[in-house]
Order: sequence, then C-alpha cells, then structure tokens
Amino acid sequence: MAHKPRIVLLGKQGAGKGTQAKLLSRHYDIAHLSTGDLFRAQALAGTAFGLEAKRFMDGGDLVPDEIVMGVIEECLAPGGPLADGFILDGFPRNQLQAEQLEQVLTDRPIDVVVHLDVPREIVVERLSARRVCENNGAHIYSVNKPPSRGWICDECGGNVVQRDDDTPEAVNKRLDLYDTQTSPLIAFYNAKGLLAVVNGVGHPDHVLERLVSAIDVARSRR
Ligand code: AMP
Repeated sequence: MAHKPRIVLLGKQGAGKGTQAKLLSRHYDIAHLSTGDLFRAQALAGTAFGLEAKRFMDGGDLVPDEIVMGVIEECLAPGGPLADGFILDGFPRNQLQAEQLEQVLTDRPIDVVVHLDVPREIVVERLSARRVCENNGAHIYSVNKPPSRGWICDECGGNVVQRDDDTPEAVNKRLDLYDTQTSPLIAFYNAKGLLAVVNGVGHPDHVLERLVSAIDVARSRR
C-alpha cells in the first residue's frame, strides 16, 4: 500500500495555511499539526509550557527552538500522532528547525514542501479582518465572513475574538520575522527538489484544488 503523504506547508501568516491544512488533512486522511494551535491550546489550559510559549506569542516573537523541538519530537515519535502521514503547518519556522526535522525523520523523509504564496498586502488585509474562536483558534472567521449567530463560534459555541497577535504592531513584526527567518526555507527546500509553489489567492475551494494537484504531481515523481 502507498504511504500516506508527509507534507510541510510554508507560507506567510494569513496565507490560509490553517484553513488549507485542515482540508488537506481530510483529503489525504493524515494528521494535521499546527504548532501555533498547539501552543494556544496549552496557553488556554494554563500549563507551564503553554504560559511560557504565550509570553513569546503575544508579542509576535518566535517561541524558542528548544521548546518547539521538544513538542515536535514527541509528536513524531514512533506510535505518536504523526508517526504515519502528516501535514505540518507553522513548522519548521527557521533553518535550525528544518535541519532538526530532517534528523528526527530518520524512517521516512518529507514528500513535498508546499509554499502557499500570497502577497504581503493581501495577508495584512486578511489578518486585520481575521477573528478566531476563543476556545479553539483553529475555528477561523473574519469580519467579512462572521459566524451565523453574533460572535459565537458555529462549531463549538465559544466567543469569537481577535487573536492577541493579530494587532497591527504584532502582525508587522511577525511578517518581518517570516521574511528573515522562514522565507529562506523556500530556497532550502527548492535546492533539495522538494518544493512546489501554489498560488494562495482566490476562493479556498480553488486553492485546495491547486494544492492537491501540486501535491499529487510531486508524489508521483518520488
Ligand atoms: P501561527 O498560529 O502559526 O501564526 O503561530 C502563532 C505563534 O506561535 C507564532 O507567532 C510564534 O510565536 C509561535 N510559533 C508557532 N510555530 C512556531 C515555530 N515553529 N517556531 C517558533 N514559534 C512558533
């Protein structure tokens, strides 16, 4: 039987990685790991690890690599939630994390790295309009596409609010960090022959179609 795909989704904050990763995880029946969602859930639960991560997240800074790698290694361990196929969303975020990911994946490497490409001016617009469920940041809305009853989440009934790091100052800082720390990974994975670039502008259904066809082409070449 063919292996389930192992996918890394790269893209600026607000490119639609969370939305598309959820759809792709359903399409390929693979696990979805968003490091941002995981840190937010831990912060909400008030664990020591979550509160430590929140200090960095709220200001738009990256969580230190040793904290992130501890979580990733646990998830990727044999028998862990990512032991088979998976989609990584928000990880790796810098060169060190990408190199450490390679070292952790000794059994089978990544199949494809997709760069979900959206221009900066469009993501700034999307992020300032974005609203998320307080209970679960993975339930995503916008001022242009609100929940059906007031600002109450359609999926779990939580309050729908603006993320602490979607303020204009934090957004600009996060996008600058993306340019300096994360965007060099596009060339890093391209040099390894793993990169596919997909236009992330347009209706989510159309973006999903583009992603699936790019991923299927990349897998057929391996
Ligand atoms: P996201 O939901 O992907 O925008 O992530 C929200 C925040 O979580 C980021 O601004 C960082 O503070 C933190 N974070 C998520 N993933 C990582 C990562 N791989 N490395 C460092 N910090 C991360």
